[in-house]
Amino acid sequence: FGRMKAGLAKSSSRLTQGLGDLFTKRKLDDEALEDLEDLLITADLGVNTAAKVTGLLSKTRLGQDITADEIKTILADEITRILEPVAKPLEIDPARKPHVVLVVGVNGAGKTTTIGKLAMQHKQAGRTVTLAAGDTFRAAAVEQLKVWGERTGCPVIARDTGADPAALAFDAVTQSRQQGDDLLFIDTAGRLQNKTDLMAELGKVVRSIKKVDETAPHSVLLVLDSTVGQNAHSQVETFGEMVNVTGLVLTKLDGTARGGVLVALAEKFGLPVHAIGVGEQAADLRPFEARAFANSLVG
Ligand code: GDP
Repeated sequence: FGRMKAGLAKSSSRLTQGLGDLFTKRKLDDEALEDLEDLLITADLGVNTAAKVTGLLSKTRLGQDITADEIKTILADEITRILEPVAKPLEIDPARKPHVVLVVGVNGAGKTTTIGKLAMQHKQAGRTVTLAAGDTFRAAAVEQLKVWGERTGCPVIARDTGADPAALAFDAVTQSRQQGDDLLFIDTAGRLQNKTDLMAELGKVVRSIKKVDETAPHSVLLVLDSTVGQNAHSQVETFGEMVNVTGLVLTKLDGTARGGVLVALAEKFGLPVHAIGVGEQAADLRPFEARAFANSLVG
């Protein structure tokens, strides 16, 4: 937990400092409210959240003196209220052998790394886990997953570069099922430059998985790089059109001032946030906790 706080410290700096600058014992008038609303929008919290918080303050505190700490408390409470319903760990159905997790997202978002981290956690929890290198387009992606396989002691199902990802997914579910695994993670390509191709490819992968197990995939994780800020919205929309996204993982919250986007995403889409990435190492995946996140966001 200490590391989660440390990992997130940087993501809060802009908002924290902004709030401190804005409210050094200042009367809460319309101008102050407007400044606050701008600050919240700049911090990626979204227009709705910004309007809600300022509306709440306007109703209860307009014309009164207010300190930065008081604003922070109100803000943290409001953010917690928004985040609580989406803070849900990834649930693995023990009746599924395997529970199939399809992992999607744009290149560089952190899919492969997140799969490695999740594999480590579930392996340590005593589950049998197999990884499938479904991004057959990039040799580096396959190699990277193999490295994670070695690191975590999980078998990796891979094919040569350029192989059909749907055929690979079919083989992976078949083999994992024969092994009686608890979990199978399937990596995918994320070439968003060609949306039509990617959509067709992901559709085919899902149909292939269903040929082996019609209830699968049991989870579809969308991995988002939090440093892209507002772009995360269009990624949720785009991937939502391609596959039935069941949950999110936000990565790179260690090196960014843009953690606020998570609040906007929670309010807009209401998708479960299963975990957050706070570094490149195996241990750098944290459960997503609403109160802790809200507190560290406002500082
Ligand atoms: P993919 O293309 O979606 O599979 O993305 P990768 O898993 O290859 O990740 C892209 C880069 O981001 C790699 O250099 C990772 O080490 C890095 N990365 C992934 N998650 C995190 C994170 O939570 N924090 C930081 N700092 N880097 C991350």
